[in-house]
Amino acid sequence: MINLGLIGYPLDHSISPKIHQAALESCGLEGKYTLFPILPDDLQGLKSILSRVRSGEITGLNVTIPYKESVISMLDQLTPTAKAIGAVNTIFMFKGKLTGENTDSSGFLTDLHHQFDLRKEKQKENLNALVLGAGGSARAVTHALLEDRWNIALTARRPDQVDELIAHFSNRGSRLSCLEYRPETLSSLIPSLRLIVNATPVGMLPDVGFSPWPEGLPFPQNALLYDLVYNPRETKLVQDARAVGLPAVTGLGMLVEQAALAFKLWTGCEAIRNEMFGTKVIL
Ligand code: NAP
Repeated sequence: MINLGLIGYPLDHSISPKIHQAALESCGLEGKYTLFPILPDDLQGLKSILSRVRSGEITGLNVTIPYKESVISMLDQLTPTAKAIGAVNTIFMFKGKLTGENTDSSGFLTDLHHQFDLRKEKQKENLNALVLGAGGSARAVTHALLEDRWNIALTARRPDQVDELIAHFSNRGSRLSCLEYRPETLSSLIPSLRLIVNATPVGMLPDVGFSPWPEGLPFPQNALLYDLVYNPRETKLVQDARAVGLPAVTGLGMLVEQAALAFKLWTGCEAIRNEMFGTKVIL
């Protein structure tokens, strides 16, 4: 019996149990995926869940807000990816050590290349991306895009948050820059942009009428757009981008991919992505 689960708060709207149930079924494994809501100040609750992973009672955990960074000090080791990003979304025992990994980054990059055919272009250097937001997922996206050799401009409503993110990656070369989150400042970048990534929650249910794209800023003519928000299936940002002819997707593919990568670490089984996407999981 495989015991999996998610720690964080709040967890009411999580679709991870459905996705992982589909993964268990696709691998023919018996198990369950439980939501463990832990209030932000409940350190004892967090420690107690982690001790159940150490003892083997729980096989593995996903981690979401607000614990992706703060849980690190309670683990024995991090994978190189989790260390580089500075955040953990997956916990498991490896060679007797409580280990933290971050599968958001590979989940994003794998789905980006699945959604858009970038093979020819990636032979060239110097493709330019703009990332909106500078929180946890922006870090994972930045790590992924750096690995994939993009130049990355970051913009967020708090420039100090972007500065902090850039400082975190300061040992990774000089392909990161910070731009003010204003149409006047961003407009100079527009003609050279090949990719836009939304890593803010703007447009997420229930606030579906909003877009993080600055008002009055034209979309680039030749860019792809990846919105990490997956709920609703088509955000206002994606609708607006498609309306002017840009290929644009929301983040359900990334959600499934990061889940499948975590599931493989826990069980050794490669779950069938289509079944994880399947009708049982649809939002
Ligand atoms: P986070 O750590 O809270 O960061 C959110 C970022 O967006 C911060 O820079 C935040 O700035 C900014 N922001 C929030 N509200 C904003 C607003 N109204 N206008 C402009 N900027 C705003 O959150 P996260 O973990 O990065 O998640 C961001 C989104 O990505 C969420 O919707 C999440 O569901 C989604 N996500 C999807 C996947 C997937 O697999 N598809 C994976 C991870 C995350 P402040 O700090 O100033 O608020």
